[in-house]
Amino acid sequence: MTLRLVLATRNPGKVAEVRRILAGLEVELLDAADMDLPAVAEDGETFADNARLKARTGAAACGLPCVADDSGLVVDALDGAPGVHSARYAGEQGQDAANLRLVLERTRGVADRTAAFVCVAALATPDGRDWLAVGELRGTLADAPRGDGGFGYDPIFVPYGETRTTAELDPAEKDAISHRGLAFRAIRPAVEALVEAASAPEPFTDSSP
Ligand code: IMP
Repeated sequence: MTLRLVLATRNPGKVAEVRRILAGLEVELLDAADMDLPAVAEDGETFADNARLKARTGAAACGLPCVADDSGLVVDALDGAPGVHSARYAGEQGQDAANLRLVLERTRGVADRTAAFVCVAALATPDGRDWLAVGELRGTLADAPRGDGGFGYDPIFVPYGETRTTAELDPAEKDAISHRGLAFRAIRPAVEALVEAASAPEPFTDSSP
């Protein structure tokens, strides 16, 4: 039996990346919009708190195993900001261009441009079990946005060992090194175990008199 797995996010950039990273598993991957999942107040203090909350809330709401992530940009010179507030750094949720402009404004002329993308992936089942995995991609901030791939802060983030921003990488190149790629590849074995359990035959019960 194919496992139905729900990706508890409405962020189209994340949905596309996680679909690619989990490709090849015997799962029917649905998303928050497919299941009409309730919005979650992301008020945790850490990426792990928020990721677990999103996956648990989703699994409880739809009765299916859910994966979720919480992720963001951590800038050393800004004491870790925007961090867990990455999606709403400039105010309204989801204003990618305004968010990255604010990071550039607050780091203008700052010599230390080191930063990291961090992702915590969470898997939760309706019976109350959960798993977490962390991924980190370190790099530096560009002085101005470049590239039109990816989403969020990609146009201003240059991974170590690269001259291109993550918005200038091919999707497969980004997945191979990204915080989300690392976190979801680390959680993949837990999903595989659920797939295996879902396809195991029902225990035989001898009902003969
Ligand atoms: P949340 O995990 O939905 O709370 O939001 C994460 C936010 O962090 C996104 O809206 C982006 O602004 C930023 N972010 C997370 N991952 C990436 C990435 O891979 N590229 C660029 N920005 C990212």
